[in-house]
Parts: sequence; C-alpha cells; structure tokens
Amino acid sequence: MPEEQYVVELDREICMGSGVCVSYAAGTFAMGNDAAAEVTTPIVTDISDVEVAASGCPTGAITVMRRTVGADSND
Ligand code: SF4
Repeated sequence: MPEEQYVVELDREICMGSGVCVSYAAGTFAMGNDAAAEVTTPIVTDISDVEVAASGCPTGAITVMRRTVGADSND
C-alpha cells in the first residue's frame, strides 16, 4: 500500500533563530545549542503543523518534499 511521506529539511545557514517552527511543530523542530533550529523528525506523514511552520518561517529556511513509498520502490 503506497504511503505519502514528507521529507523536512531546514537550512541552518539562513535560519535566524526565531523559534516560530518550534512553536508550531515542536515534534518536528527544536532549537539547537547555537540558536539555530534543527529538524528532529525529518520524515513525517502528517504535514499540517509542518506546513504552518514552513509558511511562518521568516527566512524561508524550511522546505518540505513529498514522496510516495511502497508503490514501485523498495523503500
Ligand atoms: S522559523 Fe525559520 S528562522 Fe525561525 S527558527 Fe525555525 S527555521 Fe529558523
């Protein structure tokens, strides 16, 4: 049975440490020791909170890519 997954990436070079992403999706993002955020759960199936976090990021540091697994691949 194919499953939709979303790969979450965060460009720490352009993160300004606002914490918006952690506020909206604490299960996916956390603040690192250097005050830049990091992804703690890089693959998610429920994207609702992550989408809000990505759209609220003031620097556009978050990207989300959809992928389908279990269809014609070996994932
Ligand atoms: S919302 Fe964007 S700028 Fe703010 S901490 Fe998260 S990734 Fe960094």
